[in-house]
Amino acid sequence: MQIPGHIDPVVTPRVPAPRADGLIDLVGLSRPEIRAALESAGLDVKAAKLRAKQIFHWIYNRGVTDFALMTDIAKAQQPWLSQHFVIGRPEVVEAQVSTDGTRKWLLRSPDAQDYEMVFIPDADRGTLCVSSQVGCTLNCRFCHTGTMRLVRNLTSSEIVGQVMLARDSLGEWPSSQDGRLLTNIVMMGMGEPLYNFENVRDALKVVMDGDGLALSKRRITLSTSGVVPMMARAGEEIGVNLAVSLHAVTKDVRDEIVPLNRKYGIEELLEACANYPGANNARRITFEYVMLKDKNDSDDDARELVRLIKHYRLPAKVNLIPFNPWPGAPYDTSTPERVRAFSTIVFEAGISAPVRTPRGRDIDAACGQLKTASEKKSRAELDRQAEEKLAALG
Ligand code: SAH
Ligand code: SF4
Repeated sequence: MQIPGHIDPVVTPRVPAPRADGLIDLVGLSRPEIRAALESAGLDVKAAKLRAKQIFHWIYNRGVTDFALMTDIAKAQQPWLSQHFVIGRPEVVEAQVSTDGTRKWLLRSPDAQDYEMVFIPDADRGTLCVSSQVGCTLNCRFCHTGTMRLVRNLTSSEIVGQVMLARDSLGEWPSSQDGRLLTNIVMMGMGEPLYNFENVRDALKVVMDGDGLALSKRRITLSTSGVVPMMARAGEEIGVNLAVSLHAVTKDVRDEIVPLNRKYGIEELLEACANYPGANNARRITFEYVMLKDKNDSDDDARELVRLIKHYRLPAKVNLIPFNPWPGAPYDTSTPERVRAFSTIVFEAGISAPVRTPRGRDIDAACGQLKTASEKKSRAELDRQAEEKLAALG
């Protein structure tokens, strides 16, 4: 059987298109980048340095989008700033709220690319699930995002923009106040973050800056399907928690459901996990495991998972994710009994293995269901066209 999905995807690199109005959007820029932007617009070095520090604070700590509200910047200079710069937000095409409180936003870039962001409130935390790409090149067989035809990297500005927009919607400025709803970020929306390394790194650095959004690296998790060559750099240069989408413990099954496995196999992947900088018993690596009926959910699979984790001495926890179905998906969800039995085996071996309750299923916001409405529509349009063609032939 030929296994679908490419293993060596080419990601469309993105050179951000300049805005139609010629203004430069400062969101996503670091302090030195803001300084450089101010200098190239004509400020001298010293003034640019001071202004960059002030503007950085206003943008990321206070959430201000209007230069006129920046009270420590001379009134006379504010119009000059608005003539050159803007503090933007992604365009919201649609915002939905699930019966369980989960929220999903469909966002659109200036070049009309759509991507999604999800907020999941819990009793003790609120997690923002952020996208790193429009679509994904990796084609994991159980993932709806992997079926999107168009793929492009999101810019650092578009990644940070998601967090800014979430704070706007939750009314959480300044970002240093206590009792915030948005406490955690997971890079688990659309896309493979390690195929967009630089932009994800730069964005998360801005998000972690103590004078800005100030989210601690302990509250940020990057999820990868196993881009082995980038994992050490992720640990060194970003330093956030790591989640790995393992999903299978044998070559055959993982080759089928995560095609990237044909390039970077399980042994290589687990070796990279064992060497992940900063992982220890206090900061465990999360292994995500989507439970697919009769595919990867047997007792033997659970025992092999335990064996592998112990063999590589991994400080690990396992998240068992019941498969979230989507129209046309080639798999079924494991039965609750099967999931429980699997979880028990892992748990009894001394490894935490909670079962993740799917959130926001009613608005297609659950793991792996993200696929933009516009993409769905164009698919529907294609189907209609195909039908019309068939009718014309018949
Ligand atoms: N590309 C990255 C991050 C985004 S996917 C990665 O693959 O890790 C976030 C998580 O959702 C991954 O663990 C992914 O495997 C899982 N997932 C994808 N489709 C799913 C589905 N239909 N049901 C349940 N989980 C799914
Ligand atoms: Fe891409 Fe992750 Fe979906 Fe695989 S599971 S297709 S890597 S988004």
